[in-house]
Amino acid sequence: MSVRSLLSPLLFLFACLVAAPSPAQDLRFVHPEKYERATKTDAAGMLQWDTHKEEKCPTCAGTGKMKCMTCARFFDDATVCIECKRNKEREAVCRACGGLGHFADPLEKALCPCCQGAGFIECGLCSGGGRLKGEGSDRWSTCSACRGDGGWKCAVCDGERLVEVASLKPSLAEASVATLTKAMATTDQALAALGKFTPAGGPDARKAVKELVKDLQIAQSIYPPLKRTPKFFEMCMSKTYGGSQYQGQAEREGQVQGTVKNSAEFYLKHQKHMMELALKRLEANEKLAAENKGK
Ligand SMILES: [Zn+2]
Ligand SMILES: [Zn+2]
Ligand SMILES: [Zn+2]
Ligand SMILES: [Zn+2]
Repeated sequence: MSVRSLLSPLLFLFACLVAAPSPAQDLRFVHPEKYERATKTDAAGMLQWDTHKEEKCPTCAGTGKMKCMTCARFFDDATVCIECKRNKEREAVCRACGGLGHFADPLEKALCPCCQGAGFIECGLCSGGGRLKGEGSDRWSTCSACRGDGGWKCAVCDGERLVEVASLKPSLAEASVATLTKAMATTDQALAALGKFTPAGGPDARKAVKELVKDLQIAQSIYPPLKRTPKFFEMCMSKTYGGSQYQGQAEREGQVQGTVKNSAEFYLKHQKHMMELALKRLEANEKLAAENKGK
């Protein structure tokens, strides 16, 4: 029996990719725990948040645009790309800064916990190109998983790449020590659960999806974007299941889970770090207030 007949009825798949990858532009995110936020001392000697300093994004050198990472490896005749729509320059919105050219005020905006600045989730079956070719065929057909779109516009950020930060009262910047401490503990819980999550495809896919959804829900009362994530993630998974007649299905299923897990972790680490900075400011002010009282 030949290898081919053993693998049947699985279809071999040729997506839009050509064999040799061209070097992608270096995507440089700010490490989620390295965000800084300037403070200033007011007349009473208390630390207040200063205006946000706009730092130029090193990935796009301030232009907000980058070379499309998705279709850099497509055949020239490809017409669909989920990221750049195959515009003439093959130019996409910068994923590191969400297209601003500088980093948004981290007390107000963060990269999306689902797509991490891409604005979409890529279809693993066609790799974002929207079309497929079976073995032995020289005709392209529309991708059966994404219906030719190359992926799914992110519903968590509505394709905007940046989302709101933790919803604390009165705000992340001005929340009290008690509010921050409580929110940080919940964030830690969610991070611990996500850290233990391993993407799984094939027969374990549905169980893994359930687990990831549960993990995403742990801190959803603090983070509105996480509340929006499960529904969209489940939709992407249900479409991805549509490619099961093609080889590599388990990997594709794991890939979507991995993207969401990593994006959510990035977002939560960033949020926790900002809360730590907010807490530091309050603690410094409390100390100062105590010293002033003693005088
Ligand atoms: Zn940028
Ligand atoms: Zn493209
Ligand atoms: Zn597709
Ligand atoms: Zn998004």
